[in-house]
Amino acid sequence: MDQMDTSDVSVTSTPEPKVRRGFDQKVFVNRSLTLENIKCYGFDMDYTMAMYKSPDYESLGFELIRDRMVSVGYPHELLRYTYDPSFPTRGLVIDTTYGNLLKVDSNGNILICSHGFSFLKGEDIQAYYPNKFIQRGNTDRYYILNTLFNLSETYLYTCLVDFFTRCTRYTNLPTGYQHGDLFMSYRSMFQDVRDAMDFIHDTGTLKERTIKNLDKYVVKDPNLTVLLNRIKEVAKVFLATNSDYNYTEAIMKYLLESNIKTGKPKKSWRSFFDLVVVDTRKPLFFAEGTVLRQVDTDTGKLRIGTYTGDLAHGTVYSGGSSDIVCDLLKVKGMDILYVGDHIFGDILKSKKRQGWKTFLVVPELTKELQVWEDKKNLFEELKHLDIFLADLYKHMDSGSKECPDISTIQMRMNVLTYRMDMSYGQMGSLLRSGSRQTLFASQLMRYADLYSSTCLNLLHYPFNYLFIAPPVLMPHEAMSQNSAEFASSDLALKNNIVTMNRN
Ligand SMILES: [Mg+2]
Repeated sequence: MDQMDTSDVSVTSTPEPKVRRGFDQKVFVNRSLTLENIKCYGFDMDYTMAMYKSPDYESLGFELIRDRMVSVGYPHELLRYTYDPSFPTRGLVIDTTYGNLLKVDSNGNILICSHGFSFLKGEDIQAYYPNKFIQRGNTDRYYILNTLFNLSETYLYTCLVDFFTRCTRYTNLPTGYQHGDLFMSYRSMFQDVRDAMDFIHDTGTLKERTIKNLDKYVVKDPNLTVLLNRIKEVAKVFLATNSDYNYTEAIMKYLLESNIKTGKPKKSWRSFFDLVVVDTRKPLFFAEGTVLRQVDTDTGKLRIGTYTGDLAHGTVYSGGSSDIVCDLLKVKGMDILYVGDHIFGDILKSKKRQGWKTFLVVPELTKELQVWEDKKNLFEELKHLDIFLADLYKHMDSGSKECPDISTIQMRMNVLTYRMDMSYGQMGSLLRSGSRQTLFASQLMRYADLYSSTCLNLLHYPFNYLFIAPPVLMPHEAMSQNSAEFASSDLALKNNIVTMNRN
């Protein structure tokens, strides 16, 4: 997690005072980006502009899907479960065959595995997965819980497995539970959770409850209007959300109109944007998209037929595609910075299919940075053990017969990894497990040019800012650069030789 920010670079000849941004105000850089070249800023709404309050919002989602499960026939005992925010982490994978919850790295190697609330040890994991590996491309079997909306269903599925595993009325079988002459597979339970989730979204139950109590569920920050006003002075701005018009209107009104001081004429939330597109159906939006229609903002209804006119300010559209957005706004994909929280639907697809510049909002980063700061000593010890291990093997060649006993070191490394994981929550960090990075972390580094805990952190940078990515050396480059000093473990640390030795 060594990101660089030019504000940290001391340039002695600069007369101006240096800006010191707190850790939680920073925007981190995976690939260098000149903000001055950005002609257009695009924003997602849910969990990007509209930050939902955690854990209240996830608890609400959990309770609604739990109640729905009971109403379709699941046992009433499930109502005893309440949402525990310390358990789930985003980015976990459900194995729908065995009902396990997995945390994996970018190649599908298993980092953590739980069955209900019990965490499995090495040999138990191997009994399920002989290579401690999953083919995560098998989307029929493995389901990745990528979004913050998924947290409540991750937890609900875990509660189901916990309940049925411990309930004496049900017999545990490898792929599900037997109750009399009924068999309930892990896969069907997963499908029922998904259906319940779709039900509360599609019927508008979750939205209704959110809109009724916006102060409880949505963060209102006056800085959002400041940010949008400042962006409008230098570039075009659009909103592209999968939500429908009525919900978007309620949320954006709350975020942008209620901060305007009384006495001043009300400015519509729509006037902050050059273009508003609802019902975008991302990721489809970044490919062929859907039919573009105009929304009647008085009734919320869609006009029939495809919209063919020019862009009119303040008009709201439904559907369409990223190509249509570029045409309407007269901008090229490479000139757009798109800000979103969905690693797949917002970031991976806009980057891979359209070459847009991307900014990933990672709300968990606030806590991740806090833990990282507080538990730095654990990671330092882990790094030192890595170097110690490397030193043990350094002077051996194919003629060497001795075999160093590294079991004590490995045990210590496991303890350190466990302690680090527990500092984040029961499923550990979103981004790592000990010294290994998660699938989510690898996708973040690959597809997000910039990332931060909130889009509001753009306020801390001028609009001509040059975001510089930290230089990353490949293992052989780091080796040749440091061969003279390789013996010095301090230098080895600085240059990430840790990674090289592990590989
Ligand atoms: Mg979103």
